[in-house]
Amino acid sequence: MRPLLPLKDALQQLLSGAAPCLDVEHVPLGGALGRVLASDQHAVVDVPPADNSAMDGYALRSSDQGRQLPVSARIAAGDVVHELALDSVARIFTGAEIPQGADAVVMQEDVHLTGDNVELPESVSAGQHIRGKGQDTRAGDLLLHRGRRIRPQDMGLLASQGIAQVPVFNRLKVALLSTGNELREPGSGPLSPGAIYNSNRPMLLGLLTALGCDVLDLGIVRDTPDATREALHQASQNADLILSSGGVSVGEADHVRDAVSALGEIALWRIAIKPGKPFAFGRVASTPFLGVPGNPSSAFVTFLLLARPYIYSLQGRDHVLPAALTARADFSVSRPGSRQEFLRVTTSQKDGEIWASPYANQSSGVLSSVSASDALAIVPIDELIERGQSIQVLRLDDLLY
Ligand code: AMP
Ligand code: MG
Repeated sequence: MRPLLPLKDALQQLLSGAAPCLDVEHVPLGGALGRVLASDQHAVVDVPPADNSAMDGYALRSSDQGRQLPVSARIAAGDVVHELALDSVARIFTGAEIPQGADAVVMQEDVHLTGDNVELPESVSAGQHIRGKGQDTRAGDLLLHRGRRIRPQDMGLLASQGIAQVPVFNRLKVALLSTGNELREPGSGPLSPGAIYNSNRPMLLGLLTALGCDVLDLGIVRDTPDATREALHQASQNADLILSSGGVSVGEADHVRDAVSALGEIALWRIAIKPGKPFAFGRVASTPFLGVPGNPSSAFVTFLLLARPYIYSLQGRDHVLPAALTARADFSVSRPGSRQEFLRVTTSQKDGEIWASPYANQSSGVLSSVSASDALAIVPIDELIERGQSIQVLRLDDLLY
């Protein structure tokens, strides 16, 4: 048996040849959520475009502090402003531009009104309660990097610049295949002996959709050479990437390996991770191919650890590798393992710290362990863990974006 491949070596091999492969299109800002920026975005204007009031109150010359002055103007947000008349103040509202001549705002709570006059506080500092022109962004500032997956707050930021269209990479189109004669679709009636429902198809469809891919769902592929080759051929013609589940265990007389190598090339890896281990990487004609194990929780974890960074790279995204958080182990590991283990855990806050509690049954055949969890706790190869020790966890929500 070949030795197991460390995860980081597998990732390095996988990612070394992965580059953005998608054309660029321009989409309206309102439809840009979740798309990947194809170029750096710079500020084109100063925001705010002019000094404006941070408060409802009175705009004044700070040198007039302590005086009683009449109100010579009323300025609301959106009004065009003129110079502040000498020996007067302007009634002003939040967001309204500061009139020329004024250099401070006093809050309405801080003045007394005497007849038509405003009694100003004894001490007013220049610049108070004014949001300066360009305090948010200045023309020319780098706002967002190429490779950023656009979030709602990014859309707001781009809109503040008057940007109406953004260059984004096309969506990655992924052909999805579920291999296995035993598989039946939910909704196809009760199971006959030997059959199971196809869990991976909707799960992988969901994972791909969460990552912003378009999915070409090719359904169940029967375990025959012809069916497998036909599905792979169709996938390679119509997608940027092929993802299959099942039939990649090393040494197995399986059709995925033979069919992919007949139409392109394939490497079958045994990766030192648990759950997981078997993983296939290759190409069908010129379309890259990834094969995750059939076991649903292995398929899930392998997808997140290997397929996800690969997909990010093809999509042109940044932050390809996941960032782990530090947590405390609400468990112990007393026997060293030969594979890096990704325990399905639930995190909770106790005394200001994050604790990770494992799902009771960590068997790789138990999909409930994944569904019940919100993170993967990493147990390094050959390491023991004591309860309360610091460990690294990957939050699933952080990986599913
Ligand atoms: P394989 O990788 O094809 O050897 O499958 C490993 C295990 O996962 C077997 O028990 C399969 O029945 C099961 N399996 C394979 N594909 C799926 C699927 N799409 N949904 C649920 N279980 C599956
Ligand atoms: Mg199978």
